Amino acid sequence: MPDERDVQRAKRAELEALVDEHGTEDERWTLTWNGMMRAGVTLTQLRTVALNDESLGPLPPEPDLLARLARRVEHRRQLGLPRKDCTARRPAQSCRCLGETLDEIGEDADKREVLAAARKLHKRLKPKFNPFAGPGYRARACEGARAAHDPA
Ligand SMILES: [Zn+2]
Repeated sequence: MPDERDVQRAKRAELEALVDEHGTEDERWTLTWNGMMRAGVTLTQLRTVALNDESLGPLPPEPDLLARLARRVEHRRQLGLPRKDCTARRPAQSCRCLGETLDEIGEDADKREVLAAARKLHKRLKPKFNPFAGPGYRARACEGARAAHDPA
């Protein structure tokens, strides 16, 4: 018979799978990074794991962070919004205007309201170019961490 911990573990796995499948690269990376920080993974451990093709095992993220990102991902899916962090036509990699808007705006907000609020936030943030935040750089960093995180 499953106890309370099994139920929580299953719920966490369900939310992690949701963010993993439908989240942005930044959202997935945020969960991975948070789990590593909570577990106190050191760079030496990461290096050892990567060199030996091993796994760090499960690294559960902060429950509140996971819940917030899962709500965001679900809200974005319900509204049919693109899987992006920024609403700009040419998104700034450092800008999280859409994600932050989805976190803060009510769940009853429609697509038009979310996009208008996100564009307003984008204008206020005025994101700057960041050469290290490009898709290739982030994807490679994310894949390396995920490979170390996921048991083979
Ligand atoms: Zn933006």
